[in-house]
Amino acid sequence: MSELHQLLKASAREHEGLRLKPYLDCCGRYWRDCACAEKGKLTVGYGRNLDDVGISMREADMLLDTDVDRAISAAGHLDWFGRLDLIRQWVISEMVFNMGLEKLLKFKRMLTAMARAEYATAAAEMLDSAWKERVKGRAIRLAEMMRTGKSAILKE
Ligand SMILES: [Zn+2]
Repeated sequence: MSELHQLLKASAREHEGLRLKPYLDCCGRYWRDCACAEKGKLTVGYGRNLDDVGISMREADMLLDTDVDRAISAAGHLDWFGRLDLIRQWVISEMVFNMGLEKLLKFKRMLTAMARAEYATAAAEMLDSAWKERVKGRAIRLAEMMRTGKSAILKE
């Protein structure tokens, strides 16, 4: 990094301040709490203007990596997760990625089937849900992977 880069970075760090959740630069409040008549720009981090600049492809990829790691590590809290084959670990992690662990924990009958390694039942429970109505094709694909332990992408 150039000397100019270092100087500007240190100064921006000091003067922009760091915010990990999006705020509006009119009042500096969390965006939902802003009551200004004229709304400022949606901003995050060290003064990143999300309205005009957004994020780069590289940054999107970094966020995705973080979210994938989070989903896998959250799924690891299910005590049978480590005993699953790769395809079914993928299914459960993808559900956690999509809806979060808290919502997945509401799939009681599916989780009971998972604990007993009854994957056809687990697949049927996945399809018998409001989640399936919302995500449709993705749920059908994941349920099929759950039922068979196979994926069209990962041939054995
Ligand atoms: Zn405001």
